[in-house]
Amino acid sequence: MERFFEEISKITKVTENEPMKKHTTFRIGGPARFFAEPSTKEELKALLSESKEFGIAPIVIGRGSNLLVADEGLDTLVISLGERFSEIIVEGNEIYASAGASLSAIAQAALKNSLTGFEFASGIPGSLGGAVYMNAGAYGGEMKDVVVKSFYLDENLCGQECTEHEFSYRKSFYTGKDFIITGAKIVLKEGNAEEIGETMANLAKKRREKQPVTMPSAGSVFKRPEGYFAGALIEEAGLKGCRIGGAEVSTLHAGFIVNAGDATCNDVLKLIEHIQKTIYDKNGVMLETEVKKIG
Ligand SMILES: Cc1cc2nc3c(=O)[nH]c(=O)nc-3n(C[C@H](O)[C@H](O)[C@H](O)COP(=O)(O)OP(=O)(O)OC[C@H]3O[C@@H](n4cnc5c(N)ncnc54)[C@H](O)[C@@H]3O)c2cc1C
Repeated sequence: MERFFEEISKITKVTENEPMKKHTTFRIGGPARFFAEPSTKEELKALLSESKEFGIAPIVIGRGSNLLVADEGLDTLVISLGERFSEIIVEGNEIYASAGASLSAIAQAALKNSLTGFEFASGIPGSLGGAVYMNAGAYGGEMKDVVVKSFYLDENLCGQECTEHEFSYRKSFYTGKDFIITGAKIVLKEGNAEEIGETMANLAKKRREKQPVTMPSAGSVFKRPEGYFAGALIEEAGLKGCRIGGAEVSTLHAGFIVNAGDATCNDVLKLIEHIQKTIYDKNGVMLETEVKKIG
């Protein structure tokens, strides 16, 4: 591990024992043994290549807005593709963005260029890479409607392109694979900047009214079960405000668990289990988690 640290430190800035709670919107997670934020594809490739050499399986994350990281931490290298990996280029009605670009920054670029079709994503607090991986969506839109091509590194660290994304509800071609998305091409339509801005403002207002956006969380904890809404089932079961340790079912939106103060990963997992059991006993529906547990 000493030598691995020495080698990867030559590539980019690497920190040791980095608290993952600093890199997740849940503000939960123990330390990552090593933590790197590459700023170029070359740095990313070099980090992955060294990891291979040393037999280390790194974990790649985006903006950490859909993650629940173990309290014990991650005994490996965490590669974060965020702010430092976030180029956005607009050409006509096409946007090319690096994986770490935030969806809100892409939405702002679309607005500035009077391009419509990305408004739905403006309030999702993730990166483009994470959003493609998850087929993120909101208010009737999904990544599948706008992403025509994505770029990734395969298991041999060769650059590849994907045009058949197999998008479905919170799933894509990438789900369950170890490929690393480096960027994507988005195609939008010409629109009216004033209308685009208004739509984005209205959606942001809706979010503020309906979701606990000022509290640390990872968004909706559960996927939408066929024929139901997870939030409605949880609310009907009287679980709003239910608390285990610092983890609480949001009183604003029962589909969210919030970190109401020093919640641990264990608190959240226990609360998830309690919700799943209650809803299964009451409705016969097994809620499946949307949030990704790592470590
Ligand atoms: C307040 C709040 C509101 C939210 N609202 C919505 C919503 O309306 N709709 C919605 O769909 N989601 C929503 N989310 C969840 C979350 O923002 C999305 O799932 C988002 O797409 C995750 O992106 P990320 O960059 O944060 O990914 P992360 O959480 O960092 O990672 C998620 C998964 O993607 C993988 N991944 C990330 N980047 C890459 C990459 N470059 N290559 C390969 N794999 C990668 C990770 O390994 C992990 O498995 C919300 C979250 C919060 C906190």
